[in-house]
Amino acid sequence: MNIREVLKFGEKRLLASGIENYRNEAAWLLCSLLNIDRPRLLAYPDMTVGEDAAKIYIQYIERRAAREPLQYIMGTQEFAGMEIAVNPWVLIPRPETELLVLAALVTAKQFSKPNVLDLCTGSGAIGLAIARRLSEAVVTCTDISEQAAKTAEMNAQRLGLKDRVEVLAGDLFEPVKGRRFDIIVCNPPYIPQAQIPLLQPEVNKYEPIIALSGGADGLDFYKRILDSVADYLNNEGCLIFEVGKGQAESVADMMGRRFNKIETITDDNGIERVVTGKLKVGLC
Ligand code: GLN
Repeated sequence: MNIREVLKFGEKRLLASGIENYRNEAAWLLCSLLNIDRPRLLAYPDMTVGEDAAKIYIQYIERRAAREPLQYIMGTQEFAGMEIAVNPWVLIPRPETELLVLAALVTAKQFSKPNVLDLCTGSGAIGLAIARRLSEAVVTCTDISEQAAKTAEMNAQRLGLKDRVEVLAGDLFEPVKGRRFDIIVCNPPYIPQAQIPLLQPEVNKYEPIIALSGGADGLDFYKRILDSVADYLNNEGCLIFEVGKGQAESVADMMGRRFNKIETITDDNGIERVVTGKLKVGLC
């Protein structure tokens, strides 16, 4: 079989299984498998695809037809200009989460050598993006999942950031007891439990539930973090949360007791996605 025939098979199968972006996805999977870019793939339609490669491509296509996210099949997701390795132990980084990175970069201007904590780091995408953009920053990433922590560690290694990024496995602040930070960022699990079955199959069948479920109202992790965050922030340290649709007001209210300068940032879909605040003086 040649590239044209293999691609045709992939496109037909994905279309039949209701994948909206079937053309691009069939091509991306073949590019990833053959390790070539899209223009080259399209420029050489008559190039032979070996039997082994064709077999693997069919498996890729079948996995995607069963709604496994493209990123788990290819093993990577682009985030903030970096290639992040992903696997079913970690959430696939979302483009709107780049707003959290942006907020951290703006906030970091007030610190000369910011000491940053990324809670619930998953793949490490947020902490690594901050470390990559701020050469003075030192970043600690924590995650309750050992496998997620290993993935974040591997990403730190792949991106050459291990000298400034530390990854620790443990529940929220547990691995950093007794330490304080200038900036704490967190994209916690925030989907209300009852909404999880309603998410698209790519998410609820394949992404880790532990990274999605935020309890009955989706706010469990914000409550837990806010209960003890003052023990982990430096004087006037900043907290930056990603929040789910409709949660910004509740989270801002909860922050109000301990934080000043509470601000909300809206994403491209008009959803209030990020809430930031500065710890009140005298609270730490
Ligand atoms: N943003 C993710 C989603 O839409 C959820 C991420 C989270 O719970 N932190 O599925």
